[in-house]
Amino acid sequence: MSPPPDLVLVINCGSSSLKFSVLHADGENPLVSGIAECLGLPDARLILKQGGERDTVLLDGRSHGDALATLLARLDDGGLLGRVAVVGHRVVHGGERFIESVRITAQVLDDIEAVSALAPLHNPANLVGIRACLAGLPDVPQVAVFDTAFHQTMSREAYSYAVPQHFYREHGVRRYGFHGTSHRYVSAQAVHLAGLEQGDHGLVVAHLGNGASATAVHNGRSVDTSMGLTPLEGLVMGTRSGDIDFGAAAHIGRAAGVDLAGVEALLNKQSGLLGLSSLSSDCRQLEAAADEGHAGATLALEVFVHRLARHVGALATSLPRLDALVFTGGIGENSARVRAMTLRRLAVFGFTLDEVANAQAVRGRAGRIDGGVGPAAWVVPTDEEGLIARDAARLAGLPRA
Ligand code: ADP
Repeated sequence: MSPPPDLVLVINCGSSSLKFSVLHADGENPLVSGIAECLGLPDARLILKQGGERDTVLLDGRSHGDALATLLARLDDGGLLGRVAVVGHRVVHGGERFIESVRITAQVLDDIEAVSALAPLHNPANLVGIRACLAGLPDVPQVAVFDTAFHQTMSREAYSYAVPQHFYREHGVRRYGFHGTSHRYVSAQAVHLAGLEQGDHGLVVAHLGNGASATAVHNGRSVDTSMGLTPLEGLVMGTRSGDIDFGAAAHIGRAAGVDLAGVEALLNKQSGLLGLSSLSSDCRQLEAAADEGHAGATLALEVFVHRLARHVGALATSLPRLDALVFTGGIGENSARVRAMTLRRLAVFGFTLDEVANAQAVRGRAGRIDGGVGPAAWVVPTDEEGLIARDAARLAGLPRA
């Protein structure tokens, strides 16, 4: 007799890509992971990584459904499909309806659809992934894990925009925040690593990847965050402007002769590190160019750090006490330069830097990087997939491996 299903399939379905992994219920050590990319384009392909091996399959069809069908067939060939006990889906926007991860039902699908107007680029893609899994694995429970859920503990004063409030009541116009799965995981890890009290701590977590956001966490709850109704607000990002005077955005529209949708696209796709440097959205490339004297790359890094330090300061005002600043995401986990520049700008709060520890906390290594005086500074690698797997396993009633 075959053993009972014990694995979790995690799916993160974007507009042109689908990331996946198969993990144990404890969310550790994926057995298989990979990405289906260029979906919708002629060179759509599926890349599977397993035990150090990498396998690329050109997709016959190009849609998310085709990619998922190919993935499930591959998992079946490898003897893993029958072991999938639950599927965990990343869903970007849960609006005010979802304050935690949930088992997916017909009602939940309707509710995710209903909040899709708030995330027209993301939620429809997430729904495609969920529907394809429901079709391919009809007997396997599915769980939705929302990027916004962790921030539903923000107070009204923190989440309200200063606009006529009927836009909030009738259209949901408020700040929601994103990267919640990362902020939730990293803040809990930091409390553990730093030996802080579960019920008495204040942190700011800076998740710095292609998208970037910072969150104030008080006693395990998000109390303020830098992103808003959409993931455009806040920090400088790879290609997103972050905060900008709407008057400046309107002026750009008039100057460039583009409509609102055009301005929104420009601020999302051509701005941030890319727009500032006229070179790249990639922090590693910008650091190398800055070392060669590239003025745009230098400016991009300086504006990135200035904005980050300013947000950390602002977020700290929502905490009774700032115990630690925690860096995570591709930049936060690897760029000793950005971390050092940020902590120097935050000297006003008493932050100091241990340069040796800072240089060592890279490539997935967690560590404390402050100089031992003032608030602590930590590097904590994020693990969104692991947390999605653990939530899915818990909601499906799987025993922890
Ligand atoms: P995403 O938000 O797409 O998940 P990541 O969290 O992987 O992105 O972060 C990608 C960013 O991390 C890129 O800007 C990349 O240049 C940066 N990064 C990765 N490694 C390094 C490094 N060694 N030094 C500086 N930046 C790095």
